[in-house]
Amino acid sequence: ATANIGVIGLAAMGSNLARNLAHHGNTVAVYNRHYSRTEDLMRDHGMEGQFVPAHTIEEFVASLKKPRTAIILVKAGAPTDAVIDELEAAMEPGDIIVDGGNSYFKDTIRREKEVRAKGFHFVGCGVSGGEEGALNGPSLMPGGTDESWKTLGPILKSIAAKAEDDGAPCVTHIGENGAGHFVKMVHNGIEYADMQVISEAYDLMRRGLGMTPDEIGDQFEEWNKTELNSYLIEITADILHEKDKKTGKPLVDVIVDQAGMKGTGTWTVQTALSLGTSVTAIAEGVFARAISSQTGLRQEAAKQGLAGPDGRIDIPEDAKKAFIEDIRQALYASKIVAYAQGFNEISDGAKEYDWNIDLAAVARIWRGGCIIRAQFLNKVSDAFESGEAEVSMLFASYFEKAMEKAQGSWRRVVAKAAEVGVPAPVFSSSLSYYDALRSRRLPAALIQGQRDFFGAHTYGRVDEPGAFHTLWAQEGREEIKES
Ligand code: NDP
Repeated sequence: ATANIGVIGLAAMGSNLARNLAHHGNTVAVYNRHYSRTEDLMRDHGMEGQFVPAHTIEEFVASLKKPRTAIILVKAGAPTDAVIDELEAAMEPGDIIVDGGNSYFKDTIRREKEVRAKGFHFVGCGVSGGEEGALNGPSLMPGGTDESWKTLGPILKSIAAKAEDDGAPCVTHIGENGAGHFVKMVHNGIEYADMQVISEAYDLMRRGLGMTPDEIGDQFEEWNKTELNSYLIEITADILHEKDKKTGKPLVDVIVDQAGMKGTGTWTVQTALSLGTSVTAIAEGVFARAISSQTGLRQEAAKQGLAGPDGRIDIPEDAKKAFIEDIRQALYASKIVAYAQGFNEISDGAKEYDWNIDLAAVARIWRGGCIIRAQFLNKVSDAFESGEAEVSMLFASYFEKAMEKAQGSWRRVVAKAAEVGVPAPVFSSSLSYYDALRSRRLPAALIQGQRDFFGAHTYGRVDEPGAFHTLWAQEGREEIKES
């Protein structure tokens, strides 16, 4: 046995991660169900480092030094279970099985329990950054036991992205069992919201202000020099400047306007619903993709020609610049809300599933390697580090000030979008969330009245503890105290 780590599943992610491992001095055992992928890897990249190709899983396991560590990168779901079964049959107790796929965190909780019962270690590890990240440095979110982290930690640190500011590796031991995949899931949910706020800003400049993709691309380039500096803003500028080879038109104009999704955003929202956490910005990000892909509904709507304004924002040329700055501020404020909601979900998930998650460390490992990497995450980690963000990121002084500064702009943009008929679901729902937090009293009091009226669900009183029910059907409508 010569390999200190192994990778199973050599499609885009697995082969790139195996190469990354080899580039960092590891001897990497590699195995794929169909040997052709292993052959491709060896032929195209075998010279880049030390690889030990295997034809069978037994051969793969035999080539690993103890404690054997194998990272699985196959399709999430049943294929992952199948590979775990095969590994268990070939490995010995004490060995470490790592699932680097996009597994649902509840599957990871289940698998960890089952695998641990057989004497193995199981680590569900979120991997972010796509294929490029897997090769050059991903952001890694491993769960599992402290013991497995001791073996795995140094290897993961060597291949993870390094944060630009301080060179720290973008990996931390997130928590037990499914904690890593949970945090990866929320990362993806936040990514949906982040992409949507950028798209809303684009739409307001495009349809609203009548700017060209090139002009908007220039704008995003400028914005990338501000507190919005991030990978997503950077690639947005590139995409908007791209011309279609076939027609010469801006590429964005020939791309079909139906956004796809693979399910992690949906999981984030479903999980938030069951935890009772409000993640409106993330949910609107997911629903915005859903409506874009409801083609039947959209075609019918186009036929019907629903009434409403045409989306054009009629403002004098000299006021345009100020409104573009308003849009930038609205984007920033909505983004802050989306992140605050995402971190609330992580903290509620940690309570529910008994994980001890360091939110500052989560923000730190998202600074590099992953899709939402941004300057901004330094501020987020500072806010959690200082304890100011314990209840919500929005209460940390840096973000409080940012929201105070942004909110005039934010309100103008949401109002204008509504007035001219450009949908801005994350801009507007984030503002509603912010205003709900600011409200000393919410109309939920009326809802409690309604619930008690039709369902005798009882209500609390502001001036006395206990549950009360009004006998609505009775004349005189007596109030009774139920407890
Ligand atoms: P795919 O998700 O396309 O999966 C293909 C791999 O799975 C192949 O190696 C295939 O083997 C293997 N496989 C499928 N079914 C089985 C099975 N029943 N038994 C054994 N092997 C099986 O590959 P990706 O590289 O795109 O992704 C790998 C994992 O990483 C997935 O869980 C994905 O969600 C996750 N991920 C992907 C990211 C991305 O940007 N693509 C980013 C982060 C995570 P064979 O060649 O023999 O068919």
